[in-house]
Amino acid sequence: MAVKAMARVCSYFMVLASNRVCWAVEDLLIMRIGALSRATGVDIETIRFYEKSGLLPGPERSDNGYRDYRQEHLERLAFIRHGRALDMSLADIALLLASLNSRDPAQLASVDGLVDAQLARVRARLASMHALEQQLMALKSRCDGQHAQHGGQGCGILEELVAAAHGEACACHVDAVPAAPAGRQPPVRPNR
Ligand SMILES: [Zn+2]
Repeated sequence: MAVKAMARVCSYFMVLASNRVCWAVEDLLIMRIGALSRATGVDIETIRFYEKSGLLPGPERSDNGYRDYRQEHLERLAFIRHGRALDMSLADIALLLASLNSRDPAQLASVDGLVDAQLARVRARLASMHALEQQLMALKSRCDGQHAQHGGQGCGILEELVAAAHGEACACHVDAVPAAPAGRQPPVRPNR
């Protein structure tokens, strides 16, 4: 990464020459919000939102009034973006950021707990998506796709959906259908 290479060059010059050279390299790392956005893939509005919500420290103003973002902003924004890619909430990411320099066992345990909770949410969502897959497969099974060969009878999927809208049992929600009133059987439709 160019920034790391620059940091290496910077420390090299620090040894060889003076801090003046290093400051010159540091200046190269100052960027405007557009460059920060391009470097991290986070759009400008979102960067401003992170600043307002306190996740990202506000940049210093340069002499000519520009907002100067530095390496620390780049790294923090990359950290936030990574957390968002793991579908973590901003509150969770704030807790992770606040724990970065902590050696407090309780604080670090809350980091583990946060990931456990996120994993549990993802697993619950997976289970729900699996159930949805089963429902859609059941609905799909009501039609073989050979519409032209059914003598204009239409599509079994649509018939199923219309029947369900009339309060009949449907293939996709077998568990969710209320029991039929006594003495009245649900209408039996021929297999399609
Ligand atoms: Zn069909």
